[in-house]
Amino acid sequence: SLSHAQVQAQLTGPGQLFEMEEIGGTGVRTWKHAPPHYRALLEMSRFHGDKVFLVYEDEHITFEDHFRRVATLARRLVEDYGVSKGDRVAVAMRNYPEWVISFSAVLAAGAIAVPLNAWWTEAELAYGVTDSGAKVLIADGERAVRLASTGVPMIVARGEAPDGARAFDDVLGEIPADVSLPEVEPAPDDPATIFYTSGTTGNPKGALGSHRNIGQSPMTVAYGLMRAVALSGKDVGAAAGTRRITLLTVPLFHVTGCFSAMTTTMFSGGGLVLMYKWDPEKALQLIERERVTAMIGVPTNAWQLMSHPDFGKYDLSSLSTLGYGGAPAPPKLLERIKTNLPDRAPSNGYGMTETSALAIGNGGADYHARPDSIGLPSPVVDVRVVDPLGGELPRGEVGELCVRGPNVILGYWNKPEATAQTFVGGWLHTGDLAKIDEDGFVYIVDRAKDMVIRGGENVYCAEVEAALFEHPAVDDAAVIGVPHDELGEEVGAVLRLAPGASLTPDELREFLSSRIAKFKIPVHVWFREGELPRNPGGKILKTHLRREILGT
Ligand code: AMP
Repeated sequence: SLSHAQVQAQLTGPGQLFEMEEIGGTGVRTWKHAPPHYRALLEMSRFHGDKVFLVYEDEHITFEDHFRRVATLARRLVEDYGVSKGDRVAVAMRNYPEWVISFSAVLAAGAIAVPLNAWWTEAELAYGVTDSGAKVLIADGERAVRLASTGVPMIVARGEAPDGARAFDDVLGEIPADVSLPEVEPAPDDPATIFYTSGTTGNPKGALGSHRNIGQSPMTVAYGLMRAVALSGKDVGAAAGTRRITLLTVPLFHVTGCFSAMTTTMFSGGGLVLMYKWDPEKALQLIERERVTAMIGVPTNAWQLMSHPDFGKYDLSSLSTLGYGGAPAPPKLLERIKTNLPDRAPSNGYGMTETSALAIGNGGADYHARPDSIGLPSPVVDVRVVDPLGGELPRGEVGELCVRGPNVILGYWNKPEATAQTFVGGWLHTGDLAKIDEDGFVYIVDRAKDMVIRGGENVYCAEVEAALFEHPAVDDAAVIGVPHDELGEEVGAVLRLAPGASLTPDELREFLSSRIAKFKIPVHVWFREGELPRNPGGKILKTHLRREILGT
């Protein structure tokens, strides 16, 4: 069988699809043949013509349909709403086909797409709209209600348009057969997206991604797949020729959904099966009905699929790969896949919003040999592990993982300080503690950032703590992750109440419900009499607290 070096040399050699080149004088490599901007990706996707691109319930949208709707909406945004280069347009929807069409149209109009978290409360959504300075909002009916108070012009799909807003289908109107994209051709490093990612300091930060970030991402995913195929001794040509039908189990407003699944599907001409929300039973039905070949999501999705009581009743023979990432994948998950879905190719991908999804991946025989590793960096990605002063550490030592590559975003929207702290000398500081072994495999050891990952969804402790402190009865508060088999972690809060105050967990949750999205609300609440343990600098010692409360 081939070694990594051999596989990489073959796939990235001169004239190959995965050939690399340096971005002029930066030391950063990129895929030579990556679409330079989103418009190029759209034009390429049109070659897939009448193949089905998007599936939602019983709706099937072909690549050509998608292209025409995108071009029409892009023209309406430019002509009716005055959207021009650099303007922000927010998209706030569940995983409907209109999400994909809107996202594509905003980029085709030369504007910056701002996907907003569909689970956010009215207050959180208002923050996203104000922070990004969105000029137009494209929402579904449910989000439209929560966005109405922003007063920003709105286009509404799937549901009632509030007063002053226009219905999505009315805006599109007649779709001309010969419609073309507006004449905008962005440069690769022009901003393209703002994805919100929570910060350690309270409010979410807008991760400003470029057209280059989007264009190289599907190639990174495709390379990872080809590498896994080649390493398992299978025919790369045959695999490349097989049409992939991907079931998307996570939201499109996260980079995993948007890049690892959506733009990758556009690039490769596969099909993307959308779900309104994750539901393991529905997923089983869809895999059988649509002959799904790949499932993309977080580890929790794969776990819950196999745990479903009707798991054995469905025909899952079409499923050949299970890709997950965004949260630690316990080695036990791989064991369960080997038992329940033998001969499938599971893969674990590591990435962040700031790395435009996949940066490091483990799949095929490698993953079986090292189930606790996130694998090898993509060939266009450089990694290193540094000490707290930024000095590079030798192999095997634990430090902060840093990433460099064409996938790393431009910085944070309007947050120069946070940008300067996180992006240093071209390297992204991930806030994850890792080590790299002699063969280059990366292992995530812990998180330096104060965050809980619940079923793949990040919950920043500081944000929840800030909401807890708004309650007058709360004197002190700390949020911790509580281990959970299926979700990885759940949110827990340790509280000290003000003298004489009283509060029940339910009253607290009710209080939080208008302030923070449901997935951030603590499931476990502990009340404590004494002081919370703190270091001399006043920082709560969460490791102590976890040990004390959970015994871990
Ligand atoms: P987000 O920006 O929401 O995608 O979250 C990124 C964070 O999720 C990373 O910094 C890691 O802490 C965590 N993460 C992502 N992928 C993995 C993985 N495969 N294994 C372990 N942790 C991961």
